[in-house]
Amino acid sequence: MKIRPVAFADLHTHSSASDGTMTPTQLVEKAESIGLSVIAITDHDTISGVKEAQAACKNKKIKVVAGTELSCGDPGQEKSVHVLGLFISPEKSKLSDILDEQRRLRYIRALKILNLLREQGFDMDELENWFKSEPNRVLGRPHLAHYLEDKGYIKDFDEAFKKYLSYGCPAYVPKDYIEYKTAIEAIHDAGGIAVLAHPGLIPNWEATWEKIKDLPWDGIEAFYIEHKNKDVENFFNIAQERHIASTGGSDYHGDYGKHLDRLGQGGLTEEQFNELIKFCATRGIKF
Ligand SMILES: [Zn+2]
Ligand SMILES: [Zn+2]
Repeated sequence: MKIRPVAFADLHTHSSASDGTMTPTQLVEKAESIGLSVIAITDHDTISGVKEAQAACKNKKIKVVAGTELSCGDPGQEKSVHVLGLFISPEKSKLSDILDEQRRLRYIRALKILNLLREQGFDMDELENWFKSEPNRVLGRPHLAHYLEDKGYIKDFDEAFKKYLSYGCPAYVPKDYIEYKTAIEAIHDAGGIAVLAHPGLIPNWEATWEKIKDLPWDGIEAFYIEHKNKDVENFFNIAQERHIASTGGSDYHGDYGKHLDRLGQGGLTEEQFNELIKFCATRGIKF
């Protein structure tokens, strides 16, 4: 990866509250140490890392945006389309109900994956006991990969994804998706903005966008780390035409594989972030 100047605001990061490897506190500390001024915690289907991250900002200059990332789409669809909820305050909102339901489904999915790995001949008891020892624990694929590596079942972390955990592999279990409209409404109900995440990664972009473009989007994640310059331009222009916001981030999951040193390498400049805040004010959001 080409090293770029660190962004002002990285509005897409994952902590150990979902499938990131760093705790929310570690994430905030790292973000501050590399010079970020704002980060959004956007864990998959949960906001449980936000409070800790906000507490970790105390006496620091860095600020945290409360967020989440929801997986949307139609049942049976190979890949989900991700929707970011940013600047949310989800207490007693429809969003918290949806997140509870997703948590329940995610729990069932984790147990399914553990059993599929057992069928491959691995002893998964120790990891299962860890997972069940606390109610809010998330068993993400990085945890599974580290476990298989620590047990010596595979030679390195990446092999776990290539051989067992990725789409089409024996221990792959598809996620349960949320309907787009439900997700966007729930984010609005929680007082946030609904942003189409990393559109450049959506397969069949034209057809997908045609289907979802009339939904009440508030923004598009144009400045995403994996977007090429022409993608950034294209998605930024779409946002401009529709008078909605452009956001951006690194989608950092901790220092492993392609995420190594990725924090702050995608996101918004100070000027772009101020534009976003102005936009948010038109939706009644203060930051
Ligand atoms: Zn995503
Ligand atoms: Zn993400």
